[in-house]
Amino acid sequence: MTTTKVTVIGAGLAGVEAAWQIAQAGVAVDLYEMRPVRASPAHHTAELAELVCSNSFGAMASDRAAGLLHEELRRLGSIIISTADRHSVPAGGALAVDRGVFSSQLTTTLANHPLINLKREEITEIPTDGVVVLATGPLTSPQLASDLQRFTGMEYFSFFDAASPIVVGESINQEIVFLASRYDKGESAYLNCPMNKEQYLHFWQELAHAEQAELKDFERENAKFFEGCLPIEELAKRGEDTMRYGPLKPVGLFDSRLGDFRDPVNKSKRPYAVVQLRQEDKAGELWNMVGFQTNLKWGEQKRVFSLIPGLEKAEFVRMGVMHRNTFINSPGLLHPTLQFQSRETLLAAGQLVGTEGYTAATAGGWLAGTNAARLILGKEPLIIPNTTMMGALFDFISSASPKHFQPMPPNFGILPQLPSKIRNKRERYGQYRDRSLTDLDTWQTKLLTSALTVVT
Ligand SMILES: Cc1cc2nc3c(=O)[nH]c(=O)nc-3n(C[C@H](O)[C@H](O)[C@H](O)COP(=O)(O)OP(=O)(O)OC[C@H]3O[C@@H](n4cnc5c(N)ncnc54)[C@H](O)[C@@H]3O)c2cc1C
Repeated sequence: MTTTKVTVIGAGLAGVEAAWQIAQAGVAVDLYEMRPVRASPAHHTAELAELVCSNSFGAMASDRAAGLLHEELRRLGSIIISTADRHSVPAGGALAVDRGVFSSQLTTTLANHPLINLKREEITEIPTDGVVVLATGPLTSPQLASDLQRFTGMEYFSFFDAASPIVVGESINQEIVFLASRYDKGESAYLNCPMNKEQYLHFWQELAHAEQAELKDFERENAKFFEGCLPIEELAKRGEDTMRYGPLKPVGLFDSRLGDFRDPVNKSKRPYAVVQLRQEDKAGELWNMVGFQTNLKWGEQKRVFSLIPGLEKAEFVRMGVMHRNTFINSPGLLHPTLQFQSRETLLAAGQLVGTEGYTAATAGGWLAGTNAARLILGKEPLIIPNTTMMGALFDFISSASPKHFQPMPPNFGILPQLPSKIRNKRERYGQYRDRSLTDLDTWQTKLLTSALTVVT
């Protein structure tokens, strides 16, 4: 390969981390950021790594999913996390920052790095040669988004994220739910939450009157085109039975523990409505609420969805959302190294690859940047152990089912199970943390001792 520098497109959280890791490896970078030449619908400044909404990177404790990811990134020399640590503000257990100082500090540091050439320019097409990292985020500019759509193929691209909540399997009451597919047909069985008439009517009333989140203007625009995928609360508002003829239809679903559903004597045992949960990950630890894309406020989602039989104590790893979000269908497209399968010198990171949240975007930037530099230096790209939160995220997005792929935040449900079952949640999460950090340290040491230097 003759190229000696990497092109990084987008200087948000992922792009900044990627550019920094590349430069720290001694490789030159052209870092393109379209702001302020071209505005995005959500950013307000011209600074790099602007935090578009909250100033929080999530829980700090390392036995929480976000906190574990912070700690992994800290050990790997992330500039985003070290800058966040330096400019943190009190936030009751969360890693929150003074957003102005945080972004301006990163802008100055990157702009002054001798190997980073910051160009304020919109890129409208994927560069056809060289090593390139795409990190243009959920609000990728329209022309580049069209080119990315052409490159990936229509079915591998989304402009709008209408995601249902995801629930941790072991928080579902297995004595109430039952595993079955409709009429016992179909590819795989669903977990079904049965409702009697009284339970359904109560749920329907609460859902129809629950509080919705405000849509931003540019999101309202997109929502208009999304009639085929209405929020569950909109269906509830359309009438008492609308959901029972839609995602909550009970036909063909029966709990075999109650007898044979074809037998007329069991007719009275048939559920009045059913909420279905579809398996989200290979291990069956995460379950997606089918048809529950929603605009309800997060607190309201927890309150109302906990009325569903079997979900009374449900632990949500991701709440439902409906917002503008450009992301690719990574499972059909990317290796866990974040290289495209069809062009290994093209890498992607950040919200664009279907991870969710600031810290996950930073993690993607670290890996894509590190691997881009390694390609230039003639080294093998890295795959992070999947027992770490970082490794598990990139394992998930590159191996989940492409058919139902939706963005995923860091959470313990994507990690491989521990060798033995631990009932106590805090203790279990502590064990996940210990295993992750030990495995990360061992992996880093191995890289260093085999002279495949990991960038720190
Ligand atoms: C409205 C909104 C609110 C959000 N709130 C939160 C929140 O509170 N907490 C949270 O954790 N996550 C939130 N997210 C998700 C959030 O976007 C990501 O967590 C994070 O910003 C993603 O980082 P990124 O680097 O992938 O994208 P970004 O941070 O968006 O960075 C992408 C960069 O690429 C630039 N760019 C785009 N197109 C081009 C182009 N063609 N050429 C050159 N540059 C380009 C953009 O200007 C931007 O600077 C929110 C997202 C949106 C849209």
